[in-house]
Amino acid sequence: MTNDTRTGDIVSRYGETRLPRYTSYPTAPRFSGSIGAGSYRDLLGSISDTEPLSLYLHVPFCRSMCWYCGCHTTISQKDAPILDYLTVLKREVHLVSEAIGRRQKVSSIHFGGGTPTIMKPEEFCDLKQSLDRAFHLDQVAELAVEIDPRTLTPDMTEALGAAGLTRASLGVQSFDPKVQKAINRIQTIEQTAGALAGLRKAGAQSINFDLIYGLPHQTVASAVETARIAATMRPDRFAVFGYAHVPAFKKHQRLIDEKALGDAQERHAQAEAIADTLVAAGYRRIGLDHFALPDDALSTAADRGELHRNFQGYTTDDSQTLIGLGASAIGRMSEGYVQNDVAIGRYAQRISSGELATSKGYRLTGEDRMRASVIERLMCDFRVDIEAITRVFDYPMEALTKTNTMLETLLRDGVVSLKGGILTVDTRHRFLVRTVASCFDAYLNQGGRTHATAA
Ligand code: SF4
Repeated sequence: MTNDTRTGDIVSRYGETRLPRYTSYPTAPRFSGSIGAGSYRDLLGSISDTEPLSLYLHVPFCRSMCWYCGCHTTISQKDAPILDYLTVLKREVHLVSEAIGRRQKVSSIHFGGGTPTIMKPEEFCDLKQSLDRAFHLDQVAELAVEIDPRTLTPDMTEALGAAGLTRASLGVQSFDPKVQKAINRIQTIEQTAGALAGLRKAGAQSINFDLIYGLPHQTVASAVETARIAATMRPDRFAVFGYAHVPAFKKHQRLIDEKALGDAQERHAQAEAIADTLVAAGYRRIGLDHFALPDDALSTAADRGELHRNFQGYTTDDSQTLIGLGASAIGRMSEGYVQNDVAIGRYAQRISSGELATSKGYRLTGEDRMRASVIERLMCDFRVDIEAITRVFDYPMEALTKTNTMLETLLRDGVVSLKGGILTVDTRHRFLVRTVASCFDAYLNQGGRTHATAA
């Protein structure tokens, strides 16, 4: 059997398995209503005063719906709902700071969405000032913003620069006009290049492009052409995601023609062709789906074994506490996870009445922490010292490796090897790292939620 035939066989066998992206462990479907606003207030009150925080602010509004979208967002042509939301968000910033009991030091701030740049420059500055009143922002090392190049204005670019923007993440997805039409996202090459040039001029030190494979009508040739054009613009990083078609959960995805979607083999071929194109253009492969120039912080963190994984994907941020602000935002504390109400109306009602808007969460057990460590190192390094981690958490290694049917199958298929307690994912099969991680997920298939396919 040739290497290609063998890889094709492995893709057929594992590629259609729907699995989490493991941006947390346990994953969000395990969160329950047993953690509410009262528990969150207590957790905030117990944060050590020396611990720097990461902040994530969610802006769940866009001007038009991209049919592939998997985010929590609402379409609004009017500005009034956005303004109302920002008033509530500022109130939440104040409430959280009050529950912590002091102006806590912050090391990084991330604005995500939705489309954070739907805010007008003065609204963004006002929100930033609210953060400044509630937290110590003097030592913020990273200020990251997700950007829609189609609607970014020069004024907003300037405001972001003045606020200290360090990293910008631009949605690009595909430059193929046929694909763009099929996903309801028309975005010219000039719009992307113009946004990048403006953000560089405004001082952004690191720029990321998001690309997607597995979109309707996408082919290997069109995926490669997008990657080739994008690489000539020299962003510092790429995040390359597979389209997750889950129309049962995301109703707008029903507008996508299922007959125009490729199968697991086609998706795998597109992902690998994009990877080859970016690597040939000088980018290094980082983790499952990121690429970075050799001098980018993501590359140097990967070299040092200091890559982390959080709800935004791969990151250099090592903060123990991530405060999620806004509707549906997820926070991570050393004790576990908390998530705000997803519905904007309920979120706004609770915050406006002076309550925190936590609707669910999860309190970590010792075993969860051990499994989370194994899964994070696998997702970041493709290699994990299971023996060392189980020793730290005082568990027998066999608790993870014995009677683990999926792990045994992967070992037999040569996808992984296990020597001296160290599990290593075979270089050719790194695209299956989520399948490998799933061997250590004690809750898989218990949440009733559908995830993206593994390849
Ligand atoms: S801009 Fe982003 S968040 Fe908004 S609809 Fe498109 S993909 Fe979804």
